[in-house]
Amino acid sequence: MTSSTQTAAACAAASAPRDAAFPASMGNIALAERSVPRYTSYPTAPHFTPAVTPATYRRWLGELSPCTSLSLYLHVPFCAAMCAYCGCHTKVTRRAEPVATYRDHLLAEIDLVAGLTPARQVRHLHWGGGTPSMLGEAGLTAVAEQLARRFRIGANAEHAIELDPRQLDRTLAAALKRVGVTRASLGVQDLNAHVQEAIGRVQPHAVVAAAVETLHAAGIDALSFDLMYGLPHQSLSDLMRTIDLAAAMQPSRISLFGYAHVPWFKTHQRLIDEQALPDAVERFRQQTAAREALQALGYEAIGLDHFARPDDSMAVAAREQKLKRNFQGYTTDDAQALIGFGASAIGRLPQGFVQNAPDIGAYHRAVDAGTPATVRGLALSLEDRVRADAIERLMCDFSADLEAVASRHGVSRDFFDRDLEELRPLESEGLVSRSARTVVVSDAGRPLVRVVASLFDAHLAKAGRHSSAV
Ligand code: SF4
Repeated sequence: MTSSTQTAAACAAASAPRDAAFPASMGNIALAERSVPRYTSYPTAPHFTPAVTPATYRRWLGELSPCTSLSLYLHVPFCAAMCAYCGCHTKVTRRAEPVATYRDHLLAEIDLVAGLTPARQVRHLHWGGGTPSMLGEAGLTAVAEQLARRFRIGANAEHAIELDPRQLDRTLAAALKRVGVTRASLGVQDLNAHVQEAIGRVQPHAVVAAAVETLHAAGIDALSFDLMYGLPHQSLSDLMRTIDLAAAMQPSRISLFGYAHVPWFKTHQRLIDEQALPDAVERFRQQTAAREALQALGYEAIGLDHFARPDDSMAVAAREQKLKRNFQGYTTDDAQALIGFGASAIGRLPQGFVQNAPDIGAYHRAVDAGTPATVRGLALSLEDRVRADAIERLMCDFSADLEAVASRHGVSRDFFDRDLEELRPLESEGLVSRSARTVVVSDAGRPLVRVVASLFDAHLAKAGRHSSAV
């Protein structure tokens, strides 16, 4: 299952339910090849079940309070063309009619969900896909106006949208500014022509630079770029050139994801020449060199795969150990509930996770029937909440005070003692250290933080923790 709520590169990197972690050193290849989740949620989406129904979601929405702070996610599952590396939940269309029909269902779903909950206060909005701008200026405006009618969008709310640089003009940028967009996330991936051809996404540097200029001219200055390594025909020098060109356009955040090749799961990835993909050793070199280059260019490394200028709110949150993790990866979004709109969208309420029907037809039918489009989810147990907290701290801070985590949730201080025993092999490898019940991931262990987190994952343990390599 693909998480819908991620930027295109993020979902390309995470398109498999699990993929290989990354080696801390050449000696850790075996550990790195363990197949582990990316922990954009805990429990992870493959553990969602149909036990969570539209009736469950109705009840959970009704139990929110008028004070519950909200994050809203809107999924637009359409693109003008399919990129060969894509791992997102999207489909190609060149016709206006399916997109207009989908827009109408988004409007109806917003109305329906808003009518089921007293919660109104919105702190964060995110449009993802797919390509949200496929809705067009009028469609985006109509949906944004519907949100503003049914919810209260805070004056300081971050309002972000994922954009394809090839599909941005001054009219659209002005419309985005008008509806309140404050941050644009551009899918860049790589800026070398031969790599762009190999991944089926040709967008010369000049196109990206023009998109940046257009956004600035419209008054949208907070920019994030998605970059990728591990792409076909991408050499280390190609990656370094991309980083230099990208940094020169001064995005305040850069995400760097490794391409995960899962053609059995995303069949269009068969268009990618497997022989041209870098091997694990080369991917390790690329990831390490890219990280060093971005830091040398003044970006602070955030968690596993994000970089931010020191004055960016994400860098500030990371320094203050307030960083969060959600379906977009690392985030500053600390709203109490996430409501997802659109096909495949995932929400997280205090009671648990809900996911809409991934199939657009099924999503339309549910909304037409006046019912939430929920098809699966997971009600959080106390144990899930405690483990989610520990895993989030490890993924965000590379350390976790497990006694403090246990105390926050009112469970015994020795809650994690059995899990701590399982850390011993990683301790002897120098990948983690322990002081009482505080776990610290060493510099060498950081690329393997997902493996460390997986030792606290009770659902994965039940499913077979040591699954096969990718
Ligand atoms: S633009 Fe490309 S990578 Fe992004 S969602 Fe569409 S097909 Fe996938």
